[in-house]
Amino acid sequence: MKAAAFDYVRVASVEDACRALAAAGPAEHKIIAGGQTLVPLMAMRLARPALLIDINDVAELQGIARDGPDLVIKACTRQCAAEADPLVAEVAPLLAKALPFVGHRQTRNRGTVGGSIAHGDPAAEIPLVALMLEATLVVHGPAGAARRPIDGFFEAPMVTALAPDECLVEIRFPGWGDAGRVGAGFHEVASRAGDFAIVAAAAQVALDGDGVCRRAALGLGGVGPAPIRLAAAEDALVGTRLEAVAIDAAAERIDAAIEPDSDLHASAGYRRRVGRALLRRAIGDAREEAGA
Ligand code: FAD
Repeated sequence: MKAAAFDYVRVASVEDACRALAAAGPAEHKIIAGGQTLVPLMAMRLARPALLIDINDVAELQGIARDGPDLVIKACTRQCAAEADPLVAEVAPLLAKALPFVGHRQTRNRGTVGGSIAHGDPAAEIPLVALMLEATLVVHGPAGAARRPIDGFFEAPMVTALAPDECLVEIRFPGWGDAGRVGAGFHEVASRAGDFAIVAAAAQVALDGDGVCRRAALGLGGVGPAPIRLAAAEDALVGTRLEAVAIDAAAERIDAAIEPDSDLHASAGYRRRVGRALLRRAIGDAREEAGA
């Protein structure tokens, strides 16, 4: 099918984007970034915006930088640029591990970091990592710029706390600089390479000089209406040397935190079993990397 008719405006600044969003009024309008989600939705008529506001020319929405301990990724930064940037691997190693799982190289050449967050697919890798690393979102809207914690941002499948007249401008990932030696691990099961995850598991840990875990971030994607942070499982790891018994205890604690569905791809029971198995692997990888 083809998209329904729509008007189109290409803006050159965040201010212009916000002005276009405000002027659009009640008519359904959408920001378009990489288009790797929105265009297929429009072609299937699952999205019928009357106005597209194209932000691909907005220079202030591109780029990756360090701001103190934070890694700052501008919303319209291509996923492939983040994947290749050494600063991402240095400050947010979990994000660097997850990015190669996002779609295909071709989609990552166009898709953006902010678009993935704004779209809010519960199985998407970037939202899961942003939740686990306690990212802060900077959005611009009618009331100007505002900082939003990622906690509570993903409200339901493809529903976020972003208002229709707001533009996501940057995503700020806090570094774990003083937490110790950091390691990360990411695993997922998908029907085919490049497909959205059936289940994704992510772990980032920090070990002190004695190899004791001082900080842990654990999460799963694809097992609920939004990405899920596993706080109870994290508690099972902190203070241990990530021995097998601690990793098993953490994996056994996920059941109360997740609410997987059964669908044509997998049953809820399969998602639970695979979630536990992938989480063990992700923690093991993170321990190896931090220990090395
Ligand atoms: P767009 O498609 O341009 O927009 C997506 C949504 O976000 C729209 O509602 C848009 O209005 C909104 N939006 C975008 N930017 C902003 C902004 N700055 N402020 C406010 N709203 C904004 N993704 C995965 O996570 N994992 C996968 O495995 C995966 N596999 C894929 C496989 C294929 C074949 C394809 C085509 C896509 C796949 N994707 C996957 C999706 C891809 O990663 C998209 O790039 C991403 O989900 C959206 O980013 P985008 O820049 O393309 O956004």
